[in-house]
Amino acid sequence: MRLTIAGTGYVGLVAGVCFAHVGHQVTCVDIDEQKVAMLNKGISPIYETDLEEFLQEGLQKGLLSFTTDYQSAYRDPDVIFIGVGTPELPDGSANLSYVASVARQIAESVERDCLVVVKSTVPVGTNDKVEQFIKDSLVHPVRIEVASNPEFLAQGTAVHDMMHAQRIVIGIEDKHSETILRELYAPFSLPIVAVSRRSAEMTKYASNDFLALKISYMNDLANLCELVGANIEDVALGMSLDQRIGSRFLKAGIGYGGSCFPKDTKALQYLAAQYGYNLRTVTAAVDVNNEQRYKLYRKAANRMITFSGIKVAVLGLAFKSGTDDLRESPAVYNIPLLLEQGAEITAFDPVAEENCKRQYQFPMEYAQTVEDALNGAQVCFIFTDWQEIRDVGPSAFKSLMRTALVYDGRNLFDSRAMLEAGVEYYSIGR
Ligand code: NAD
Repeated sequence: MRLTIAGTGYVGLVAGVCFAHVGHQVTCVDIDEQKVAMLNKGISPIYETDLEEFLQEGLQKGLLSFTTDYQSAYRDPDVIFIGVGTPELPDGSANLSYVASVARQIAESVERDCLVVVKSTVPVGTNDKVEQFIKDSLVHPVRIEVASNPEFLAQGTAVHDMMHAQRIVIGIEDKHSETILRELYAPFSLPIVAVSRRSAEMTKYASNDFLALKISYMNDLANLCELVGANIEDVALGMSLDQRIGSRFLKAGIGYGGSCFPKDTKALQYLAAQYGYNLRTVTAAVDVNNEQRYKLYRKAANRMITFSGIKVAVLGLAFKSGTDDLRESPAVYNIPLLLEQGAEITAFDPVAEENCKRQYQFPMEYAQTVEDALNGAQVCFIFTDWQEIRDVGPSAFKSLMRTALVYDGRNLFDSRAMLEAGVEYYSIGR
């Protein structure tokens, strides 16, 4: 099939390369000229395992191309995917202006019957509006159907998640759209859940918010474990073997981040409020997370007389390992607090350093290894669960730091081993 994908971010780019990988003819459109130029050279602007390999394979086979010329890209494909961002507005609602702008461009450009598929995470009812908007604004007399196909990939494992998704959710209002989407996804041989457009839109928020709730529940329990002398990791292990609970997303830490959970929890709260409903469970998850991200900073601030002139090692900048994404990362919330207090920070992150330099311009040093970041430090904060950090082992903190004082937001080390190595070690819930 001939596909056009609007947006080459985590979702659009991964979808594009994976659809090309299974043999579809894919054109990806973005408004960012620099990104498009890089992609056409086979360079991925984001870090994801296997992504660059799939990208180069698609380009070489002539199944994949990138352009800023939306008019020709939307003129006559079989299917157009909308995978642009839906970031949070100050009131917590989803910003639909990027989706609207693609809808307008499609209406201006499309010259033959076409299925438009909304892959971006959008509030319930948006697909209806997109369909109406395109139909109202069409320049050529063609038939347009709109379907929802929310994306469930996780950053860090995005290509694998797309190729081996546990399910494909499609939201359709007519048989024809369902047939096209089933044909499109047939090469992946994955289970397809076909529901109404509104149920598909809701399924995406319901899934993300459930995972956010699960994390916040474990973080809330971790705080209680510290008070009552229990160990959250032992508790999680005991819970995980119950198949009704499962083992994933039971890890306590310094809170969730990234581009999805923070905004999707707020967007669902906002949607509920519009209908006069208070979604108390999700509100609780958001409240716990807002406090959790400062937990270690508060602990350290209680322990230290000052951060002024103190050498601080920050290990990990990305919101989780496997990605260079800094959006809503606990590190980017804590670093300004430390800098305000006069801390002298040396940060290490194996992939997010460039993004951090570009996006934040924090007045701090960057180290190329964990050891260099720890050298001479008086306090260390761990914000991301990178294997590189785990690999240094407890003795490195003792031998390299001036004062072996460690606040670990990801529970990367065994508390007893750290104690035995002579490290004053604080982690979460144990
Ligand atoms: P992103 O911010 O990484 O990428 C969006 C891209 O769209 C950018 O490259 C931007 O330049 C481009 N764009 C903006 N306007 C455009 C236009 N008119 N035409 C073409 N391109 C345009 O976003 P993302 O993380 O890929 O997320 C996209 C959507 O998918 C969001 O709704 C998000 O909630 C959802 N989602 C994200 C993830 C994730 O892990 N990142 C997972 C599932 C779903």
